[in-house]
Amino acid sequence: MRFRPVLLVLATAAAVALPDTASVLAQSPGTAWTANLGDLRRTAALVPGPHPVRINILKFAESRRTKNFSIKGAPATPSVQARTAFQVVYPDSTVMVDAGMDLDVHRFFGRGVEEPYDAEAARTVARAVREARLIIVTHEHGDHVAGVVHTPAAAELAPKTILTRTQLQGLMKAPQMPEIAVSDDLARRFIVVDYDRYLPVAPGMAAVKAPGHTPGSQMIFVALQSGREYLLIGDTTWHMDGVRLVTGKDAPWVTEDQATVMDQLRWLNQLSRTEPRLVIVASHDDEQRIDLMNKDLLGGTR
Ligand SMILES: [Zn+2]
Ligand SMILES: [Zn+2]
Repeated sequence: MRFRPVLLVLATAAAVALPDTASVLAQSPGTAWTANLGDLRRTAALVPGPHPVRINILKFAESRRTKNFSIKGAPATPSVQARTAFQVVYPDSTVMVDAGMDLDVHRFFGRGVEEPYDAEAARTVARAVREARLIIVTHEHGDHVAGVVHTPAAAELAPKTILTRTQLQGLMKAPQMPEIAVSDDLARRFIVVDYDRYLPVAPGMAAVKAPGHTPGSQMIFVALQSGREYLLIGDTTWHMDGVRLVTGKDAPWVTEDQATVMDQLRWLNQLSRTEPRLVIVASHDDEQRIDLMNKDLLGGTR
């Protein structure tokens, strides 16, 4: 709310002084990123059917990275990054948000250091992916997408997996690691979508386009039957302090559009203060995972 009046003034001034500039501003890559929760709610209500009843968080591995990488300026204190996937549970089926990763891809992230990988939990994720009616991913990084591209089951999972055109192009032309490269043959099997701002996904579920962490990043909104709402924000921040403090990462190995990520953190910070029904969930924040499970706001095995 705080930013709306400023944007209105800018838009009005541009429209009055330079009639052609307003439309250019609206489309130029330098324009501030924003989204509207009301639009997201309406989009999520478009697909008919009963809404989901709960969301399970499935943790299968950890990375140990000091806090300063997740939050610029934070002290270099030990911090656990959980590797997770989300299972959205409907009365008769499930939808996966992200798909986990195998041990090879996990080892890539360790960069020579062995980090915890729970093989049994990873099998649970693989089973959840296999049994899901539909799969969608927050972005094209290996820890979110390997479970549908670097697996012997890739060819049978692809026809029930939605990738955005940008995600697929990233996986084909500039994969984060060689293991998740997608061939022409596999690419043809996915459900590939282009959308502008919001995409209806399933009853009570919608995606909002949010490039920044990667070009193909999106956040997934979920409205449960109970009225509780979730926004699965992927890697927009690695720790919810990023939303609380409106502070980005300081991780030299990821190339982000930092200005856009900051716009997204500002939007999420505002939502976190004004939307009591909404639970914003960061994929890798292990403290938040434990807290939300303790409060029964997320299900899953501990
Ligand atoms: Zn990522
Ligand atoms: Zn990640």
